[in-house]
Amino acid sequence: MSVQGTILVLDGTSTNRIMLKVQLTAAWYHVVQAEKLHGLAGLLRRTHPDLVLVAQTLPDGSSADVKRLVVANPELGDVPVVAIAPQNDKAARLQALADGLDDVLTAPFKDTLLLARIRSLLRARADTQELQLGNGSHPIGFAEPAATLIAPPKQAHVAILTQTARIGTLWKTALSGRSRHSLRNHLASNMRALLSGSVPDAILIEIGTSAAGLNTLADLKSRGATRHTVLIAVLADHDAGLACEALDRGADAVCMDGFCAEEVQLQLDNQVARKARMDRMRATLKRGLAESWVDPLTGLHNRRYAMQAMNQMARQPSRTGHGFVVMLADLDHFKTINDRFGHVSGDRVLTEAAMRMKRTVGSAGFVARIGGEEFMIGLPDSSPTGAIELAKTLRDCISKTPFSLPDASAPVPVTISIGLTAPNPPLTHSEPLEQLLKSADSALYAAKKAGRNQVRVRQSAA
Ligand code: GH3
Ligand code: MG
Ligand code: MG
Repeated sequence: MSVQGTILVLDGTSTNRIMLKVQLTAAWYHVVQAEKLHGLAGLLRRTHPDLVLVAQTLPDGSSADVKRLVVANPELGDVPVVAIAPQNDKAARLQALADGLDDVLTAPFKDTLLLARIRSLLRARADTQELQLGNGSHPIGFAEPAATLIAPPKQAHVAILTQTARIGTLWKTALSGRSRHSLRNHLASNMRALLSGSVPDAILIEIGTSAAGLNTLADLKSRGATRHTVLIAVLADHDAGLACEALDRGADAVCMDGFCAEEVQLQLDNQVARKARMDRMRATLKRGLAESWVDPLTGLHNRRYAMQAMNQMARQPSRTGHGFVVMLADLDHFKTINDRFGHVSGDRVLTEAAMRMKRTVGSAGFVARIGGEEFMIGLPDSSPTGAIELAKTLRDCISKTPFSLPDASAPVPVTISIGLTAPNPPLTHSEPLEQLLKSADSALYAAKKAGRNQVRVRQSAA
């Protein structure tokens, strides 16, 4: 197994394949070779490459066919496919970009440039894989759909960052005829203006002959605000060394032969589509993480959150010297409500009770639904008398106002029983949480036994 990853080289000419294999193997990539499209689907399934390098023309197809095959396999959808186009065939290069290829290298190329391009694409792929791994919390079929071949370019905010205003105006004029993105000029000497507004989706950077443009690139890549912004470097002329530097410093794409509006536009469309997909994955992951702490019915925190929060409270020193308090609350005769008015009404009682308790506790602590009709209330810093007062207010916020239910002719009275405990002594916090919960549970049991709609306290054993 190779250290760096597996690269599939597809070329009808054996000398080209051998040359690439030598270059890539020397850089510690594992290389798989094929000469034509026929049989490729099976080969992709068997070898699971991390990247595909393909001659733009194959004996029985083209690089576009290869990209289509890769995208069609949901397990490979994000594997970058790089076309190798013949030298001096600009039309072929542009065609490959229009076909949705992740990049195009013009043969013959320096192996340093090839390796820099591979490194940068594999880095981007690793980011995608990380986001997909995070989305593993979602049931199969609900995760972000696989990449599509050519996502329609959405309207993006593009900043054009040049050394001089004249170049900026030229580029903007050339692009605005063919682009639906909103374009804005900025000067490299005034980065503050670029960074103070809303973050652009993509930045087109003029890399001059000095290192200044490269430094700007690295700076933008490392800033929190622009870390996920597409960075496209435009070189003044074909300079492989500068292109390598730009890629290694974080450029997502490099236009190597000076500014060509058509090429820049194609790179922008491809990269913006890729970014949009990454943004969606990031949002899904964020939502998934947030949801994993929330009870979907009531919107309260769930048991998992409650246990973490309790652990944290136990570790945190008390600000007032009082320490934390745990309450367990359980709706009384809830089964009867379900039986009399139906499950939907039962759910309504749960959500309404949750809302009332959350409002009552406010910023004093958290309320979580830890089971069917069971709740946990945690107060990080409360005196015993303050906690008992709050528990009584919680009890009253349920019992004092009957619940309006869809299938009941009149509002239905509901009550709740509450057991309360605090570690004793409060400052040591040395007690195992299970022991505390046991004490709270036993207090709850006492409240039920005492006739329900009651608050009971158990001093937890030291
Ligand atoms: P007690 O006063 O002793 O707590 O009696 P109870 O009826 O509240 O307790 P019991 O444990 O016998 O019944 C709890 C009921 O809560 C049984 C279950 O069907 C119902 N339940 C649990 N989760 C849900 C839910 O999400 N929605 C609804 N509507 N009912 C639920
Ligand atoms: Mg109950
Ligand atoms: Mg119960």
